[in-house]
Amino acid sequence: MNQRDLTLPDTDARVAVEALELHKAYSTTHALDGLSLTIRRGTVTALLGPNGAGKTTFMETICGMRAPDSGSVRVLGFDPVRHRRDLALVLGVQVQEFSLQATVKAGEALAFFASLYPDPMPVDEALRRFGLVKKADVRFPRLSGGQKRRLGIARALIGNPSVVVLDEPTAGLDPQGQEFLRDEIRRLRSEGRTVVLSTHDVDDAEELADEIAIIDRGTVIAQGTAQSVRSRSGYRHRLLLRTPNPRQLADYLAPLPTVPRVDSVVAFTDTPDELRLQVEGRAEVLDERPASLEDVFLLLTGRELRV
Ligand code: ADP
Repeated sequence: MNQRDLTLPDTDARVAVEALELHKAYSTTHALDGLSLTIRRGTVTALLGPNGAGKTTFMETICGMRAPDSGSVRVLGFDPVRHRRDLALVLGVQVQEFSLQATVKAGEALAFFASLYPDPMPVDEALRRFGLVKKADVRFPRLSGGQKRRLGIARALIGNPSVVVLDEPTAGLDPQGQEFLRDEIRRLRSEGRTVVLSTHDVDDAEELADEIAIIDRGTVIAQGTAQSVRSRSGYRHRLLLRTPNPRQLADYLAPLPTVPRVDSVVAFTDTPDELRLQVEGRAEVLDERPASLEDVFLLLTGRELRV
């Protein structure tokens, strides 16, 4: 057991984050509306949902930056508000808009942040890992957008945190930056850390996450592996149907255990063979493929992920 473990309160060793019935309202907006979620240690969990779903508010609650109106949250057994200082030593947080004073150089900033932790990454290693060796003496405003983002991530990780919280980590990055970040997240996972990230990018969620929590209107509407979220939706298959009369076909399909999308007559079902029989003579099946998480999100919420 290392020194840091000794400071952890008695808790279920397998659980990193336990949130129960969280509520948080901003005047009339219910940013969190009874959100419950358990995140296992050593996993990557993606919070997938459209803008305004409550992802950031939830992550801020995990980090102790916001107190919920009601409900409880524990991170490695700590209450994030009451044990903020203990938690700060084991938590790494990447916020969307990372910024530093204009006079601070990248290397100086990392040396300062490293000094806050009991067991930090050496600054040279952090500069190397995040491709900032040549930028160590450059002041913050003179870094490129990508370099600022990498410095923000280095700041989040320099303390070797057990739990890493990343708010929209790949948003606004070029493809190379996105790949760098995805590799970094895989590496964190292989080091046994717990990663919680928010995204509205289904590809990110599918590719990176062990577990996906679909969040909508302040609550978790589905959780599990990408595969299990799809299976439990009841709509694993997506059939593209051609028919001279789409509206009539949609009306015909409506009472069946199928969700027809009238514009293109795409039907989702768990029983594709039956559906093929049922539409025989009414429509031709042009294509069948597995329903994507994006499809499932739309079916469960009636809303698009990308807004
Ligand atoms: P997401 O990260 O999923 O986009 P947020 O947690 O940022 O969602 O927002 C959830 C809801 O709460 C949104 O309707 C947002 O406008 C509102 N909200 C978030 N922060 C504040 C705040 N500080 N004041 C008022 N409303 C807020």
